[in-house]
Amino acid sequence: MTVAPCHHEHSGNARGAPEVARILAAVEASCTSQGERMTAPRRRVLELLLAAGEPVKAYDLIARYGANGEAAKPPTVYRALEFLERWGVVHRIASISAYVACSAQDDDVKAHAAAFLICDCCGSTAEVAVPLGDLALDKAALAVGYDISRTTIEGHGKCAHCREAA
Ligand SMILES: [Zn+2]
Ligand SMILES: [Zn+2]
Ligand SMILES: [Zn+2]
Repeated sequence: MTVAPCHHEHSGNARGAPEVARILAAVEASCTSQGERMTAPRRRVLELLLAAGEPVKAYDLIARYGANGEAAKPPTVYRALEFLERWGVVHRIASISAYVACSAQDDDVKAHAAAFLICDCCGSTAEVAVPLGDLALDKAALAVGYDISRTTIEGHGKCAHCREAA
């Protein structure tokens, strides 16, 4: 589903280079400390998503991958996305088929459910962190002996800005 641009303006969350570098270093440190490697493709894909500050389609990541404008091989990007999603620093928003860098600032990004509020008017998305265990879904899962490690919730509606401007 694509959202037609509306007449309402919304500001994205594009991050500047210093913030991108700071987050990349932090993620790299957490990978290393847990025996994972921050490979060049993982790093580059996360960098693109952090800089964008909004959901990006996989084919746009592939197209933007090369610093000099050359595209990546699709499996390179998909494998990196798979890792970053498992690591909890990137979320896939299924209803708009796009990926977004996690906006959680806490150390334990793995322990939150990603809840996205998607505006069907202007297309903006905002992530609100819901601690795992706070959800009725977690309790229902535990009741049948299931341990949920990742949850993504997608809410569609109208953002505060578009509601105000309506
Ligand atoms: Zn998140
Ligand atoms: Zn709007
Ligand atoms: Zn909106």
